[in-house]
Amino acid sequence: MTHEEFETAMAFHGHKCPAMPLGYRSAKAAMDALGVARAKDKELYVVSETGKGHAAGCFLDGVMSATGCTYGKSNIEKKYYNKMAFTLIDVVNGKAVRVRLKDEFFGNMLNSPFVAQRKQGVAPQDVPAEIADPLVDNVLKMPEEKFLVVGEVADYDFPKGKGCFETDLCSKCGERVFVDKLTDGVCIPCSEKK
Ligand SMILES: [Zn+2]
Ligand SMILES: [Zn+2]
Repeated sequence: MTHEEFETAMAFHGHKCPAMPLGYRSAKAAMDALGVARAKDKELYVVSETGKGHAAGCFLDGVMSATGCTYGKSNIEKKYYNKMAFTLIDVVNGKAVRVRLKDEFFGNMLNSPFVAQRKQGVAPQDVPAEIADPLVDNVLKMPEEKFLVVGEVADYDFPKGKGCFETDLCSKCGERVFVDKLTDGVCIPCSEKK
């Protein structure tokens, strides 16, 4: 992870923490295994097994930054299995790889002085630099084998969907909607109103 990549990802994420670059590096490893570059549109898709647990959100922001798979483009989904793992799918070539944090590393991660601060109720952006900085530096330079299991690249049959480009007005509220979400001319919120 270059200095520039780190700064860009941190600006997106919002604070300096070890889990974001950890996610970024994990995603880069998956991208290298597949031989793919960051998605400009929907060339990649992430199925993340993370949940809302500690460090998981930060980790996934790193994954989003590296892969370009974002909530806005709908090419990322969360399974809430509460595992520190995800599958990266190369939509164009129909290949996928699953990566996960090593179990021991994942276990030790929650004993870090950063997490100790969090347990005491300190917001991540308020964790002192003398605690956060060495942990982040360590994540940036530790060898991949120390923290990551990269699975085998396998075939993956990704369902091809076409984007909807047509719109119409809802016959009840009059608001404009993509037609694939209009039923009998009515939008979803109007159809749910009784
Ligand atoms: Zn974070
Ligand atoms: Zn409506």
